[in-house]
Amino acid sequence: MKIVGTIAELNALLGPKPQCAFVPTMGALHAGHANLITEASTQAKRRGFPGGCVVSVFVNPTQFEDKADLARYPRTLEADADLCKKHGATYLFAPGVDEMYPPGRPVGVPPIPESGTRPNLEDKARPGHFAGVCQVVLRLFQIVRPRVAYFGEKDWQQYQVIRAMARQQALAVEVVASPTVREPDGLALSSRNRFLSREDRKRALALVRGLKAAGRAPSPAAAEAALLTELARDGITPDYAVVRDAETLLSPTPGRPMRALVAARLGSIRLLDNLPYPNGI
Ligand code: AMP
Repeated sequence: MKIVGTIAELNALLGPKPQCAFVPTMGALHAGHANLITEASTQAKRRGFPGGCVVSVFVNPTQFEDKADLARYPRTLEADADLCKKHGATYLFAPGVDEMYPPGRPVGVPPIPESGTRPNLEDKARPGHFAGVCQVVLRLFQIVRPRVAYFGEKDWQQYQVIRAMARQQALAVEVVASPTVREPDGLALSSRNRFLSREDRKRALALVRGLKAAGRAPSPAAAEAALLTELARDGITPDYAVVRDAETLLSPTPGRPMRALVAARLGSIRLLDNLPYPNGI
């Protein structure tokens, strides 16, 4: 596995018509990312992509509106490289900020799909976030030019926004989601979990407990109530705790897949999780 810091070097390695599978990340890689990398490298081998599996590690400043969150975001490139290598990555693309956003050369922001502006979920809690996400993912897609790109179900709204953005931009990339990887007790893995206090780490389990309870409820309204009840038991007031259309993230309509989604702040750490509705895990 080779670590690559510049676009020019990556271009030279991938050639004029790259064929690769791609996993974009912000680093501080854990077993959730490892799962995406394993899937991408397996797919690259199966389809005989000469570019193999490309992983990017770039903490994208434009998607953070909370500059303290950006400053404390964990940066662990050496460990990330080990994990990438172990799980079959071919290239680790780790550009600096000036490489991605060259001074004096503005990088465009594509139109944000409606799933990233209308639902009043992450779009409301983090205004500007999806503009930054679409900007960096489009730029990465234009640099890496992958045939297939892997995202985690954990960031469900983000996955739907990126899928829609790729379609709107008529990019020749398949956008694929992989299941959320969890701790043995059910907490969704996140690079931010390490900052939870011991007490909040326990309370955080209310999110997955609530989503499971929601999955067993007889209607979307009952599911939202069940989710709120579980959160309240641990004194958690969520940013949102809802059942929505799985693709548009708007109110559910009969006959279409649904998703239960929750986001809550525990201390200064914001946690997200979601599961299919009905059922859960
Ligand atoms: P991040 O670097 O955390 O922004 O995430 C990079 C990719 O990993 C995104 O597609 C996330 O959805 C995905 N991801 C993060 N946590 C998990 C998890 N626990 N399970 C599966 N995928 C994840």
